Amino acid sequence: MHRIYLDYAASTPVDKAVKTVMEPYSSEIFGNPGALHWFGQEASAAVFKAREAIAEFLRATYKEIIFTGSATEANNLALRGAVKYCKADKFKKIKIITTAIEHESVLETCRDLENEGVEVVYIPVSKEGIVDVEKLKSAIDERTVLISVMYANNEVGTIQPISEISKIIKAFKDKHPMSPYPLFHTDAVQALQYLDCDINKLGVDLMTLSAHKIYGPKGIGMLYARNSHPKPNIINPIITGGGQERGLRSGTENVANIVGFAKAMELVHKVKNSEAKRISGLRGYLLRSLKKISASRRTKISVNGDLRNRLPNNLNVYVPGHNAGDLLIKLDLAGVAISPGSACSARLAKPSYVLEAMGLPRSRCAESLRMTLGRQTTKADIDKMLKIMLKIL
Ligand code: PLP
Repeated sequence: MHRIYLDYAASTPVDKAVKTVMEPYSSEIFGNPGALHWFGQEASAAVFKAREAIAEFLRATYKEIIFTGSATEANNLALRGAVKYCKADKFKKIKIITTAIEHESVLETCRDLENEGVEVVYIPVSKEGIVDVEKLKSAIDERTVLISVMYANNEVGTIQPISEISKIIKAFKDKHPMSPYPLFHTDAVQALQYLDCDINKLGVDLMTLSAHKIYGPKGIGMLYARNSHPKPNIINPIITGGGQERGLRSGTENVANIVGFAKAMELVHKVKNSEAKRISGLRGYLLRSLKKISASRRTKISVNGDLRNRLPNNLNVYVPGHNAGDLLIKLDLAGVAISPGSACSARLAKPSYVLEAMGLPRSRCAESLRMTLGRQTTKADIDKMLKIMLKIL
């Protein structure tokens, strides 16, 4: 069976060129990058080269790139690391501001930090899934040590006004020149594939990325952490040990994955604009066709929120009268892979908290599907998927 994959927000296949550059580092170039001998230095040089390349793509410096085992870990490092750093600074009652639609790796970390006495403010979003900037602005005070707002959402693909928020934070800081807070963190995992992740344009202090969402390997993420003067770090480590990654993430570096991450990022930069255009065209075609076939079946498929300010590959739709879990199984049996919501909560079969935060009723959330297109998606795939959908409906 030729299977159709429409779940690129969950993960992407490793690009052939990425696989090729990784290969030697999984076999003959095996030294520990921390070792001083020739074998170690060969591996260390590869990590350094990858770090420099990634830093250049992000307009950062190599010292600001901290490799982690996943974006989940990078988000944990950003949030917990900032809190630990502030506590070490003997900061008073700490407050974090985030949004109601962050990935679980941010939300669950925030909940855990709440148990440790940190105050967390969850800013609501509009019915289109965009963060309420005015509410965020009024929540900032002198106790706020970190603001974490995702660049693009994993379920609905909404793009948040990161530069606008960074200007608000800067204006606050200008009035409080003695304090380096609040720090600004963004989870740009879903954004990297299609949006400009230049840290200077975004104005962020911390940024999370993951390789497996951009046709790189699984099990490698990174945190951009701004180098501040006179103190070089703005966070404390949450994993301690041999002091790798400038002491911020101990553990022997995953050399093959790091090299693969850099290659995947290079490829993204090459195809970003052309792919965004192609994918957006395909998504438009998919939506128009879905609306047509659903009308013929007397159901009314519609987009959750609207398509403005969205990643070009995301289509989150309401299919009235069809439970998302049932639809997913029927589509999968017919060879089409989609997701009812975020990849991580899909197994829990609970309605999406993102759609709920957008004010959609629970019943609608339970009948909504997320389709995410990617590099391998063709018009022929979409046509085949539409035929299957028509049959199921
Ligand atoms: N943040 C966002 C927005 C995501 O979509 C994901 C993965 O679904 C993550 C974080 C976690 O990424 P990782 O799988 O690298 O832990």
